[in-house]
Amino acid sequence: MSLTPYEEALKLVLENTQRLSTEKVFLWQAIGRVLAEDVCSDSDKPPFDNSAMDGYAVRWEDIQETPARLKVIGELSAGGENTLKLEPKTAIKIFTGAPVPEGADTVVPLEYTRQEGDYVLIEGSFKRGANIRLRGAELRKDEVVLKRGSLIRGYEVGLMASVNKAFVEVYRRPRVAVVSTGDELKDLGEPIEKPSQIRSSNHHTIYARTLESGCEVANLGIVKDEPQAIRELLQKVEEYDIFITTGGVSAGEKDYVHMLVKELGFELIFHKLRIKPAKPVLFAKKGKSLLFGLPGNPVSCVMAFDLLVKPAIRKMQGFEKCEPIILKAELVRDFSRRNAERREFVRAKFWQEGGKLLCDYSPKTESHMLTSYVDANCYMVVYEGVHELKAGQEVDIVPFD
Ligand code: AMP
Ligand code: MG
Repeated sequence: MSLTPYEEALKLVLENTQRLSTEKVFLWQAIGRVLAEDVCSDSDKPPFDNSAMDGYAVRWEDIQETPARLKVIGELSAGGENTLKLEPKTAIKIFTGAPVPEGADTVVPLEYTRQEGDYVLIEGSFKRGANIRLRGAELRKDEVVLKRGSLIRGYEVGLMASVNKAFVEVYRRPRVAVVSTGDELKDLGEPIEKPSQIRSSNHHTIYARTLESGCEVANLGIVKDEPQAIRELLQKVEEYDIFITTGGVSAGEKDYVHMLVKELGFELIFHKLRIKPAKPVLFAKKGKSLLFGLPGNPVSCVMAFDLLVKPAIRKMQGFEKCEPIILKAELVRDFSRRNAERREFVRAKFWQEGGKLLCDYSPKTESHMLTSYVDANCYMVVYEGVHELKAGQEVDIVPFD
């Protein structure tokens, strides 16, 4: 079977992934999710003309001679009643957010005033309308505040609260199952009984990455390399939007996932990729449910997640832009490799210096070394056919997200 290039694999993943349905949730449950409706303002904002400062509400004509001396006829505070009316040659003490009284067109900040008994002295020149926030200046009633497709962050939560939008339509969270396969695997806390046994990290890495990506995750633990056990597992795929297995997906005798996918009537979309590491990645589909068979090597496993599963998750979540982002950075150290057949994604670190991005890579390039992620924040891309990269050269990087 020929190796599928990365771009083609990514395209196939996105083509075979559907946006999920939507649901109405309370604002706080919408954080990190994508809006599936337009949100409109419930009223003009501000809802009434109000003061932007603590000071005095006046008629602009009355403060043209300086200092102006005006009689103070009352006081208005935020949330208070607005029953006062400003007559010529008078002023009303006003606090930030209080409604501007009828007759007033300007607010003079406290710093430019001095109260003397029942009078206030005003010094300084102000524009007509100064320090007044006009009704509807920010938003008109029924105006669209947030468009369908927007990502909801804390800012948007506050904005929706300000227009009394308590429940909001968003794309539902993908339901994902994670399971690691391998006879040699032991889970957290389980005793290691034989020297050949190893601690499973993959199902925890993928569980964490999936959770970080805003999914609902079921941890199905560890399953042995036994056809019947894996068959039973794969029969559950349609209970989830995405089903992720790790291990047992290459060409070894005990690699049953590939064989069973065919037996169980999945549509196999690709198996091996022209990337390094993570060559053995399997992608198949049953109904709308996606199956990703990720390689067992810990780096390959999470890298395949980042480069292929994460885009599928984003598509399901309603994002417009689902592909990993590519930035340019200047490499600080030579890189070379003997075999340039596959596209390599090297764990690397980028930072900003002197107005540009610089990049250095982890010396640990092997696919079992999860320590290569320590301090890394991106993949450096080494394209097919490229044997060498020189210090000072511009390279493509894919920031982690
Ligand atoms: P496999 O893809 O099953 O052939 O596994 C490839 C390598 O990854 C082997 O050295 C496995 O022991 C190791 N491996 C497989 N599964 C895991 C796991 N869940 N956690 C850590 N290492 C694993
Ligand atoms: Mg295995």
